[in-house]
Amino acid sequence: MKKCENCGKQFKWKTIFTSLWRNYRPIECSECDTVHKITPLGRMTFVSMTMFPVVLLGSYFSNKPNYALILAGAILILLIGSMLAPFAVRYRKAM
Ligand SMILES: [Zn+2]
Repeated sequence: MKKCENCGKQFKWKTIFTSLWRNYRPIECSECDTVHKITPLGRMTFVSMTMFPVVLLGSYFSNKPNYALILAGAILILLIGSMLAPFAVRYRKAM
């Protein structure tokens, strides 16, 4: 999990999770108030863990539409992806 680049304080999972779903809102360290912004790679990681699998799923089932199944799968992917994303995304100290 990402730590503060200034004081080394570990960010909470919930803090990063909230940031991701609020359009990558910058994270402020609770100890030293240093602001961290998500890296472009971090954004890509989040998108590839959430939106991308859903799009793939949709196109895979587009021949034989089973909308309930697609919807259930999409929600599952979004849930799992966004729960794991805080461990994978990278943040950098804002200048
Ligand atoms: Zn800090």
